[in-house]
Amino acid sequence: MKKLLILGAGTAGTMVANRMARLLDQTEWQITIVDQHETHYYQPGLLFIPFGMYSKNDVVKPKRDFIPAGVEFIMSPVDVIEPEHNRVKLVKDGRYLNYDFLVIATGTRTHPEQTPGLHEHEWFKSIYDFYTIEGAVALAKHLRTWQGGRLVLNVVENPIKCPVAPLEFIMLADWFFHEQGLRNRVELIYATPLPGAFTKPIASKHLGDILDRKGVKIEPEFLLMEVQPDAKKIVSYDEREIAYDLLVTVPVNMGDESIARSGLGDELNYVQVDKHTFVSPKHANIFALGDAAALPTSKAGSVAHFAVDCFSENFLRYVDGLEMLPTFDGHANCFIESGFGKGLLIDFNYEVEPLPGHYPLPGVGPFTLLQESEANHWGKLMFRWMYWNILLKGQEMPLPARMSMAGKWGK
Ligand SMILES: Cc1cc2nc3c(=O)[nH]c(=O)nc-3n(C[C@H](O)[C@H](O)[C@H](O)COP(=O)(O)OP(=O)(O)OC[C@H]3O[C@@H](n4cnc5c(N)ncnc54)[C@H](O)[C@@H]3O)c2cc1C
Repeated sequence: MKKLLILGAGTAGTMVANRMARLLDQTEWQITIVDQHETHYYQPGLLFIPFGMYSKNDVVKPKRDFIPAGVEFIMSPVDVIEPEHNRVKLVKDGRYLNYDFLVIATGTRTHPEQTPGLHEHEWFKSIYDFYTIEGAVALAKHLRTWQGGRLVLNVVENPIKCPVAPLEFIMLADWFFHEQGLRNRVELIYATPLPGAFTKPIASKHLGDILDRKGVKIEPEFLLMEVQPDAKKIVSYDEREIAYDLLVTVPVNMGDESIARSGLGDELNYVQVDKHTFVSPKHANIFALGDAAALPTSKAGSVAHFAVDCFSENFLRYVDGLEMLPTFDGHANCFIESGFGKGLLIDFNYEVEPLPGHYPLPGVGPFTLLQESEANHWGKLMFRWMYWNILLKGQEMPLPARMSMAGKWGK
């Protein structure tokens, strides 16, 4: 039996397991997937929890429910990958798993302890995150009784997963405080290491204008040096200080420590792979998919989905001795919830930045690119159903994996 081993049963790993269980001959292949936790979180839903739109129960399901028949699911942290021996050591019982092909899909997570003052006595008192279930739930509780003041949202460092989530948070905060009758008592500040609202210039201009209209102040190029939790201030390397009453942080994001222990990671523990095929340049039988991969596109579930589409077909060629085709183009698309029942959508790849237009049908949509619409808001809300019922199960969606210029207007 040939062995395909998948590390991480999150978005990317679960999709790969489902796809491969269907595509590979199960009399010839043994597929194994390893994860350290039983619970799968629908991470895009974490955004809605602080504002009472979702509760914890709306974003959790058991991982086992999504692992297909015939795939072995092992519950243990990964200790280390030993590429020279084609094996992985698990923490549980120190057991080794051999592989012929390895897919690393261990994602990325937040590390608030990397920033002085952030993860100390004011954590979950005047400082919260919303990238973890614990943070999102604690912040929801805090916001229920908060009487207003200066809310500062700070992204400590890029890259982060879902780079639009902070923007969505601040726009939803504007809507939420309006609804609570508190907006005139709340100052909203977005302190970002980027020069503007987003990484790419056209989207940055569109999104920056929307933030402006909503009365959100952007503090650009703010590279956080430390938090002073008692003085309630954040301080940048160029010695700018911003006082806050409530700090919402997106801490440093890093890949898993097992990647560093295995000598496979860059300085943030992301795995270097070919950006079109996901194959490691050092080990021809190791691939990385999803947030774990060091790729010059967004770390997002949509990217993981398009990546798995491309990878699956390529993998079948590869194991038959054919060359992999450079099919993945960095395609990403993300709904951006903007409050008051509206949202935007961006669609881009390695070469093309987000542009205005319609998606997926040119001229029709129903979704509008870089423009607020109700359809986009409903698309975002419907996405949860699609995630649990279609995407995770590795089913095909009627959307091409590669980005299309049809329906985009240019600048
Ligand atoms: C607040 C928020 C909003 C978001 N919104 C969107 C959105 O609107 N659209 C979008 O496309 N994306 C969004 N994302 C991003 C999206 O959720 C992620 O990009 C996606 O889940 C990445 O999938 P992954 O499989 O790479 O990682 P994950 O789904 O995080 O899975 C990684 C898995 O690896 C396991 N693992 C890690 N290390 C080990 C180890 N040592 N041993 C064993 N198991 C291990 C973990 O337990 C986990 O199950 C959002 C994320 C957040 C936090």
